Amino acid sequence: MTEPANTPSPVRVRFAPSPTGLLHVGGARTALFNWLLAHGQARREGRDGAFLLRIEDTDRNRYVPGAEQGIVDILGWFGLVWDEGPDAGGPRGPYRQSERTDLYREHAALLLERGHAYRCFCTPERLQRVRDEQTARKQPPGYDRLCRDLTLEQIEAYVTAATPYVVRFRMPLDGETPVYDLLRGEMVFQNVNLEDLVLLKSDGYPTYHLANVVDDHLMEISDILRGEEWIPTAPVHVRLYAAFGWEAPRFAHLPLILAPGGGKLSKRHGSTAMEEFRAQGYLPEALMNYLALLGWRFDGSTEMFSKEDLMAKFTLERVNASPGTFDYNKLRWFNQHYINHVLTLDDLTLRVMPFLAEAGLIAPGSSSPEHLEFSRVRPVVALLKDRLETLADAPDLMGYFFQPDLEPYDPALLVPKKMSRDDALAALDAVAAVLPDTDLENEEATEARFRALADTLGLKPGSLFMPVRVAVTGRTQSPGLFGTLRVIGAERVQSRIAMAIKRLRAWTAEEPSAAAAGTRV
Ligand code: GLU
Repeated sequence: MTEPANTPSPVRVRFAPSPTGLLHVGGARTALFNWLLAHGQARREGRDGAFLLRIEDTDRNRYVPGAEQGIVDILGWFGLVWDEGPDAGGPRGPYRQSERTDLYREHAALLLERGHAYRCFCTPERLQRVRDEQTARKQPPGYDRLCRDLTLEQIEAYVTAATPYVVRFRMPLDGETPVYDLLRGEMVFQNVNLEDLVLLKSDGYPTYHLANVVDDHLMEISDILRGEEWIPTAPVHVRLYAAFGWEAPRFAHLPLILAPGGGKLSKRHGSTAMEEFRAQGYLPEALMNYLALLGWRFDGSTEMFSKEDLMAKFTLERVNASPGTFDYNKLRWFNQHYINHVLTLDDLTLRVMPFLAEAGLIAPGSSSPEHLEFSRVRPVVALLKDRLETLADAPDLMGYFFQPDLEPYDPALLVPKKMSRDDALAALDAVAAVLPDTDLENEEATEARFRALADTLGLKPGSLFMPVRVAVTGRTQSPGLFGTLRVIGAERVQSRIAMAIKRLRAWTAEEPSAAAAGTRV
């Protein structure tokens, strides 16, 4: 087998997840690269490019109900659209393997007929015994091929007795199998190391290997982009294509995604599933940009790529075979960048709203500009967006804009450093007195007014601003004070200042020593 000649049109690729749980970021990257090859590179080159979604659900032991819908949802959220798939339909369907089992049985029968496969009647107990003995002898465990050369009479006897069997692939016992990989070049495998893999299980369901090869052929897949974990069985697949008399698709095995300290990225390093990142307030745009860079590079220095940029620039030639390291901090950085510099304010508002609703801060309802809370949320987002790293930061960061009453805060916060309790009270009293005829909508005028008040009281402006800030927000840090006052609105500002004055008085009376000592943050 040599390097495939000129790439024929069209390009048909597939993402073939097994519905066994959440979608790992590595799977999402595989889906993304497939999609970019079909909808980006191929179409740019004037070829037809189709991206298929195929659900590989024939392993009933690992099947998780609801996982398929979850994968469909999260891929849609991520921003990938498939041309053919279980829901989209298409000319090569069905696209769910559990609906194609007859096809696999027919194809297994074909291989049996041609002598490329054989029935294996070994019981699970025997197979286990063989493996135990091999392990005891320090040999690699594997099937000892007992049934490979049964006579016709033996086979008939087993079949007549209705002995359960699996169908195994008859691998050549010697020689080698080359696999050409678009990213790695030719890889050569010694057949002596390869097993007679099971193709059809005793329950009549195919294994991944049979179903995958049959489907990739029948669905006319031109390029297989999948994870590097499938390299070891790729030579068996290549042999299977040959046994059927089919031309194999091109292969590209995508590099592993490593954890920050090395090793394969897994649960114990942190979140690994797309659903988790979504729940934590990551944007699909940021994830797409970040995941594209885990294995693909453009010029080695450009890092910001929108979906459109990726479609315009992605080429398989620039996908790297060496593993990338998943950097949580960098992903966070990308997310913050998209929040701050890429999304429009309206768009960001719509994405923040479900997080605020979830926290009970605004009324629930689907996120749309018609939502009655939209106009209340938008100015708050405008004030605070540069402090948002993820959408999930919003409830904590923005809560005081929406809560009718502040959560209890330490009254000591109302008394800034080097200020006495009386100074703070005087400042708050003075502000309370001017508020009823201060137009908070006019930030500049409000600021001038507050500065003049500070001057009259003999305070630095900051010493007057801080008690006001704490009174109105319950914290010592907030966005610009006058923007904050404007957005919170006159009524709530007044009631919160009145409340602060009350609490500061009560607190002073209860804890005179602390107040006298000027306890603060
Ligand atoms: N169902 C396999 C998986 O879950 C697909 C592997 C392939 O793309 O061939 O990874």
